[in-house]
Amino acid sequence: MGVDLWVPKTGRDAGAGEGRFGNRGSGLEDSQPLNAAPPVVKVEGLPTAIETAFTPALDSVESLGWDELHETVVSCRDCSLHQTRTQAVFGVGDRNASLMVIGEAPGADEDRQGEPFVGRAGQLLNAMLEAIGFAREQVYIANIIKCRPPGNRDPHIEETAACQPFLHRQIALLQPRLILSVGRISAHNLLGTEEAVGRLRGRVHRFDPGDVPLIVTYHPAYLLRRPQEKSKAWQDLQAVYRQLNQA
Ligand code: URA
Repeated sequence: MGVDLWVPKTGRDAGAGEGRFGNRGSGLEDSQPLNAAPPVVKVEGLPTAIETAFTPALDSVESLGWDELHETVVSCRDCSLHQTRTQAVFGVGDRNASLMVIGEAPGADEDRQGEPFVGRAGQLLNAMLEAIGFAREQVYIANIIKCRPPGNRDPHIEETAACQPFLHRQIALLQPRLILSVGRISAHNLLGTEEAVGRLRGRVHRFDPGDVPLIVTYHPAYLLRRPQEKSKAWQDLQAVYRQLNQA
């Protein structure tokens, strides 16, 4: 069976905000838009051969539809991760979803199956979504980078830079009403900040381009290691629910 993870699933607890996890005093409010620039894509001083290896993807993805974008991602060789991946992990879910969940990178299970969040962290993510009334199929799930870093190390700057246009195009195509950014790597890359997740929680940020509302929470893998933090994640999920259900 799955991981024993999440408690609230049905009825009044499912995101209503007044259930047994009550959200009073969570202090959520709109923040000033973060003006910090996203991570630099262009790497100055690269030999021309390397620079042109990046350029085609950066220039061309902005006009791609879903299917062409998918084809481009699964055949991408723009960074060295293509050498160690089993397959690129594009993203999954409803292409008309109001909620987009963005994680970090595929792990071993995702690399094998070609779908994001299918391991233990994925089971917890599913339970978290269910707690606010979403089946996994009703949201769209993607990662900052599409190929597994060896040994699940943090992605390198040139890897996130190479993948950024793909994710940005996914966001532009989806036009979600809200992004749920899970974990440090996701939040730092989407918001162009290095602030701790604990400090980024509790407000509604804006993702640019697109001015998309964005809420940060802990990564499910972190919650598996530190279950005592689940109550904070539940506050974040209630904020997601409220944001999506406000008039
Ligand atoms: N962790 C992530 O951030 N993404 C996945 O797809 C799986 C685990």
